[in-house]
Amino acid sequence: MCGIIGYIGFKNAQEIIINGLKRLEYRGYDSVGIATFEIDGINSIKCAGKVAELEKKIDKNSFSGTIGIGHTRWATHGRPNKINAHPHTSSDKKIYLIHNGVIENYKSLKEFLINKGITFESETDTEVLVQLISYIYESEQVTFEQAIKLSLSKAVGAYGIIVMNKDNPDELIAARKGSPVVVGIGDGEYFISSDTSSIIEHTKNILYLDENEIISIKGTKYEVKNIDSDLVIDKKIEYLDIDINNIEKGNFDHFMLKEIFEQPSAIVNAIRGRIDYENNKIKLGGINDYALDIINSDMIYITACGTSWHAALIGSYIL
Ligand code: GLU
Repeated sequence: MCGIIGYIGFKNAQEIIINGLKRLEYRGYDSVGIATFEIDGINSIKCAGKVAELEKKIDKNSFSGTIGIGHTRWATHGRPNKINAHPHTSSDKKIYLIHNGVIENYKSLKEFLINKGITFESETDTEVLVQLISYIYESEQVTFEQAIKLSLSKAVGAYGIIVMNKDNPDELIAARKGSPVVVGIGDGEYFISSDTSSIIEHTKNILYLDENEIISIKGTKYEVKNIDSDLVIDKKIEYLDIDINNIEKGNFDHFMLKEIFEQPSAIVNAIRGRIDYENNKIKLGGINDYALDIINSDMIYITACGTSWHAALIGSYIL
């Protein structure tokens, strides 16, 4: 699962999106693509390979819009090539969508759409979602948001998506289930992403979309709802106190090298304030409040993945 970015504001969207995609490169990916609203509709470009390769192909004059989306793909359904790269579009090229995750029931949805006469360009599960949104939008004459909600209620699987529609050139809609989606709230501008690392250079005010939530951002206003409801949810905006230097490569060639050389300071930072040298004790602030519950429990589950999983294995051994 890779990276998604959306920008809606007053600056050049293409530049912000490409820059944001570069921030997500550490996750690994095989292809990349962007789409922006331009005066004459939606302009999109994609390719297999790295963000830098796409950047070289971009004609800056045809990407001057201030609203757009971008994606780095880690192929799950279909080869890592240009056709399968995101954004994917409806056959009438009105709706553009980027997606992180997997649509598990894509085969049955695809069959349904093929029976309705819709033809597919790519091998991806993602194209099924954008074609379904378009089909519902056109055939049921509902609003764009409603069409997305109805489509998502039929989709089984995991997704973080951002969608744009030629009919609504001042709007981006994003939704999540299983894959993360965060929204940076700037001054008259919004940054949607799968990861805060691509946002914090612009704003540290972050709205975290919860499971099954959908956000529609139109001009300078936004509304969050549950996918199956029309009630507007009052979301908390959190301040993310992260230093931009922590997410930059600095003078190192690779993030991995940076992490290796940062180990001494990372350890110091991790244990700072947690060792009581006078009494020879460890103080774990966040856990102290629950110490009694933990002591009295029969079983402790440690949830983790990747590096934290290895740390958890050592932790469980020590416990
Ligand atoms: N399942 C989608 C695809 O294969 C999205 C993969 C991703 O998360 O990058 O295109």
